[in-house]
Amino acid sequence: MSYNPQVLDPLIVSRPDRIAAPDRNWRAPFIRAAFRLQNPEVLRELEVIQSVERSPARLKAVHDARLERLLHHAWSQTDYYREVLEACGAVRSGQVNLDRFEDIPFLTKDIIRSQGDRLMPKSLPAGRKAHTNLSGGSTGQPVRFWQDNVYWGVTIATRTHHFSTVGKEMGQREMKIWGNEQDFRKGTIGWKAKFENFVYNRKFEQCWHLPDERILAIIRQINEWQPQMLWCYRDGIDGVARYINEHGIRVHAPASVVLGGATVYPFMAQAIERAFKSPAISAYGSREVGAVACQCLERGGLHIATQAHLVEAIGPDQRPVMEADGELAITPLMNYAMPFIRYRIGDRGRMTRRPCTCGRAFPMLDALTGRVVEVLHNRKGEQIDPIFFIWIMAEKINNKVLKKGQIVQEEDGAITVNLVLEPDATMLQAQPHLEEIREAVTLVMGPECPVQFTFMDAIPLSQSGKFPYIVRRKSLESGCPTL
Ligand SMILES: [Zn+2]
Repeated sequence: MSYNPQVLDPLIVSRPDRIAAPDRNWRAPFIRAAFRLQNPEVLRELEVIQSVERSPARLKAVHDARLERLLHHAWSQTDYYREVLEACGAVRSGQVNLDRFEDIPFLTKDIIRSQGDRLMPKSLPAGRKAHTNLSGGSTGQPVRFWQDNVYWGVTIATRTHHFSTVGKEMGQREMKIWGNEQDFRKGTIGWKAKFENFVYNRKFEQCWHLPDERILAIIRQINEWQPQMLWCYRDGIDGVARYINEHGIRVHAPASVVLGGATVYPFMAQAIERAFKSPAISAYGSREVGAVACQCLERGGLHIATQAHLVEAIGPDQRPVMEADGELAITPLMNYAMPFIRYRIGDRGRMTRRPCTCGRAFPMLDALTGRVVEVLHNRKGEQIDPIFFIWIMAEKINNKVLKKGQIVQEEDGAITVNLVLEPDATMLQAQPHLEEIREAVTLVMGPECPVQFTFMDAIPLSQSGKFPYIVRRKSLESGCPTL
């Protein structure tokens, strides 16, 4: 669909009658009262976060005490961890030795599948109730696991805190622009979801299918309702932002645009910031491990919620590394229903000792650098950082000729570049871009690596609603997708 000014006029001209009344934030005390009744752990955790936020020593004390309790629980209540923790010396005869933590073998998706019941505790501490959950399954089969109500309270509190650091207080308006159909339905269908959204002051928009009409509907909703914060799936809001920039549409500027779902690359953040005139904030978490880390408004890195998580980046020698890329291993400290210790989640990142200029004590994840399954290998056995291919795509896509692109490494090592042409573009126009893509791919994959191009009407999203920029056919299958 081409640009139609008549459709967009109401968006450009601000109409006071269409702008909702400013927030009267009666909701914050109401939400607190509801937590007090239903899940007091949220309020308890908010107090914990407040007490450790500016004190590295207090934060470390809480972290260590929680880690010690988790290891003891796992050792005393599960068959799998009794064996594993005894063998590596992290817990011997009930005595926890945190110095041996890095000797604990990693937990993988395959172990969760094969060990099953041996990971389940025989009993839970009083007051904890377990609920089942399922990973999104963007790499391979989804995995079922268990979480408890305390873990969920901690997750809600951590997220509430993260949002408050980027300008949205409890009860202020948030719009969730979400790309996962299952989450969307769960969050919008039924009186309970509707009531919760009313109380939380939250509206949902779906973005897993984004024809121009949907993009315009989302923009109109944002302008009419004027949310304090947008909480978005990376790929959906990326498409909306590009449309806004392309058509020069004026959009309500929220305090921040929080992005989840997948690694946010700098060119995406730039497009989003240009469209909304607001900071793009990268948040990191997943179904299996909850709200792990989030940027603050300084955007120097992602603050890790270490009161509730232990995050490690694992280098090639399988030991934790700092200031270098590694595969992330995450230990959620507060889930006792199925302890995950050193869980290789399938994401890559870089830890840093550098503190944030905001002065908060939470340590920093310097950058998220992609999924493990996005790391391709050339014939020399060298690993190619996904960011290289992402840059090629960023450079060559959205140039009015190529609309979407995807790099696929086939099982035999050959590269297929899947491309979608813009509706008005021709193959002749695409030709010089193909040559440049081939040249760039050959540079790192080697001249012997075959590169072929396939044109498609659309590139399908993954099962969890994400756009897979890079696909390695021979997947490591070591993790679940991020949320
Ligand atoms: Zn900060």
